[in-house]
Amino acid sequence: MKFLVDEMLQRLGSWLRAAGYDTVIARDGRDDYALLRQAIDEDRLLVTRDRELARHRRAPGRVILLECDKLDDCIRELGNKLDIDWLHRPFQRCLVCNTELIPADASARARIPERARQQADAALYCPKCRKVYWEGSHVDRMRRRLEEWQGVDS
Ligand SMILES: [Zn+2]
Repeated sequence: MKFLVDEMLQRLGSWLRAAGYDTVIARDGRDDYALLRQAIDEDRLLVTRDRELARHRRAPGRVILLECDKLDDCIRELGNKLDIDWLHRPFQRCLVCNTELIPADASARARIPERARQQADAALYCPKCRKVYWEGSHVDRMRRRLEEWQGVDS
């Protein structure tokens, strides 16, 4: 499953990335039909709160209409409609730009703060926007939330 997420649902989109799903977050001002066309061209499910879009004749099987407002509600609602595995491939994709991460090289590792340096061996980095990711309290917190949504007792 690959996703195109409406800009209104961008937090949900970031979490889909965190879970490892290829997720494009729509930018400002794209019209609805351009979004639907992009979803079809790139074989993505279009996740939106736009009812009109969900009524389009090409929407069935392609558009996932959500009514949620808060993140936790969106997580639950999406999970009711699709078989989402929140532990699919956690933290293998850049949260900023959706690129697959690769092991950090020495120069990327050098940008990790001193206090987190002992985790540097397992650090990953984004070859496109150059953001470095390492296991630390932030990733731990995010991982616990993914586990919670997936129903894993930790
Ligand atoms: Zn990136």
